[in-house]
Formats: sequence, structure tokens, C-alpha cells
Amino acid sequence: MLNRYAKIEEKLKREIVLLKGRPCFWGKCAFCDYIEDNIKDEDEAARQNRNVLQNVTGEFGVLECINSGNVFELPEQTKIDIRNLIHEKNIHTLVFEAHYIFKHRLDEIREFFGCEVLFKTGIESFDYDFRENVLNKNAKFTDVKEVSDYFDSACLMVGIKGQTREMIERDIEIGLSNFMWITINIFINNSTSIKRDEELVRWFIDKHYDLKDNPKVEMLIQNTDLGVG
Ligand code: SF4
Repeated sequence: MLNRYAKIEEKLKREIVLLKGRPCFWGKCAFCDYIEDNIKDEDEAARQNRNVLQNVTGEFGVLECINSGNVFELPEQTKIDIRNLIHEKNIHTLVFEAHYIFKHRLDEIREFFGCEVLFKTGIESFDYDFRENVLNKNAKFTDVKEVSDYFDSACLMVGIKGQTREMIERDIEIGLSNFMWITINIFINNSTSIKRDEELVRWFIDKHYDLKDNPKVEMLIQNTDLGVG
């Protein structure tokens, strides 16, 4: 059973829920097997999401909603439920995830909810070749401004075979200087053919573990470290 509700009590203090939505429009990132948590039956998804949302207290005024995909894949009813909830619980800020491709549609979400909305996006790496040709991310930008002009936070992946120490250090530097905060995910082997580079992970933890104390960094050593998943 996945845990679908948690509180994050440091840095950007918030509640977080892992909701259900339609499968990701892209679904082809080489390292991703999130599809296992998606459902096509929107009514069923909305019903399950309502149960999860019942846990939200609003105590931090900030709620992050993730759904193994993009905010655009949440059932319409769930979006309405979240909108009601933010009024009921005095939530002033929502955090969602969206793929780079949606950068011109983020205002739709801001308008719908009528509150502050922060967007995270999975960039994984700023190295174009690695991101596109190994990870198949479909985020075809060359200048970080094409991302940071739209999104508040970038998620980076660390510890994949094919990545180098230099790439990782550069990614973190770019991330820290262009975004409000970054999420560093240490890659965990899953059902895809992308493999973790144990040596690279050891090096990273050895050399850069103190990044976890950086106020602009959330580091996920296990992919459940935010308390959900
Ligand atoms: S955009 Fe996200 S959910 Fe979609 S395939 Fe890529 S990693 Fe998976």
C-alpha cells in the first residue's frame, strides 16, 4: 500500500498528497514506471482522491498535490474538490507538478484555483544529450531560462549509469542559481532498464550529503522520503 498523505515539517512546510490521475500524457521517460499508479476510471480516481484529501488540515497553509504524472491529468472533480478544500482550510499556496511541455498552460491552473500556485517540473538533468537521448524526457530546451521563466522548482535525478560527476555538479549549480528550490532524487532501480550507478551514488553521498541542509534543497535518498509513495 502506498502512503498517500504526509506532512513535510522542514523548509517549505506543507502537507503533501499523492493522488490518482490519468496516465501521464508522455509516459515514455526511460526511467519512469509511475504508470502503475495511474487509473483511467476518472470517477474511481476522484472517489479515492477524496478519501486522501480528507486528511488535509491546512495547518501550514500550503498543500502539495502530486499524482504520478501532471496536474493536468487529475480528474476534473478532484480539482474542484481541491479548490473547495483550500477555501475551507485556508490554504494559500498549492504546489503541483507539470512537465515542461505544459509551460504555456500553467496559468490555466493558477486561474482555476485562484491562489498562489508553485510548479515543480522534472528536468532530471540540464545536460541536453543525457536528458533527451538517455532519459527520453521530451523537454527540449537549451537555455535554463526556458524552464525557470515558468517553473518555480526543478527536480533533478542523480546516480544513473551514463551520468558523470561533472554533470551532476553542474546540474545542481544551475538548479540552485535559477530556481526557488530544487529536489534531488537519488535514482532507485525500478522495473525500467535504466540502472543506478552505485559508485556514483556513493560519491555523491560522500561529497554532497550536506546539500540536504541547504534551505533550497530537498533531497530524496529513498523515493518515499517526502513521506508519500
Ligand atoms: S513526465 Fe513524469 S510521469 Fe510522465 S513519463 Fe516522464 S517521469 Fe513519468
